[in-house]
Amino acid sequence: MRTVNLSAGDIIEAVCTRCRSILNHTIVAMVGERVVRVECNTCHGVHNYRDKVEKKTPARGETVRRTASAPRKPGKGQGAEDRKEWESLSPAMDRTRAIPYDMEGSYCVNDLVAHPVFGLGVVKTVIKPNKIEVLFEQGKKLLRCKL
Ligand SMILES: [Zn+2]
Repeated sequence: MRTVNLSAGDIIEAVCTRCRSILNHTIVAMVGERVVRVECNTCHGVHNYRDKVEKKTPARGETVRRTASAPRKPGKGQGAEDRKEWESLSPAMDRTRAIPYDMEGSYCVNDLVAHPVFGLGVVKTVIKPNKIEVLFEQGKKLLRCKL
């Protein structure tokens, strides 16, 4: 129950039908304890009092967007296996032994490669004539090289 005693002339917050927002209104008419008519202090329009509780009607043109796509899961399958392998190899990696990656370089299996983008990696496979498969922290990458 409302305990505040309101009377005509008082200021009350109400939904203005013209301004379409909650604004201060001056009470114009009351029936008993109930406010029936108010005057908008902004547009000075007089209208029936509507409680602030407005029905939730989404603005036209605004569609309620629900992202249907599930949150992206961290790579499973091959990616996860690469990651596991990387984690088991990583502690043994001697960064000082890493060879800076160079397209013109030549590499052997188990060589450590320092790539400017992917970081430290281990040569897993040498693919003739001119490619190496390197395991980096983010997975296996195929890189060019000179054998
Ligand atoms: Zn108004």
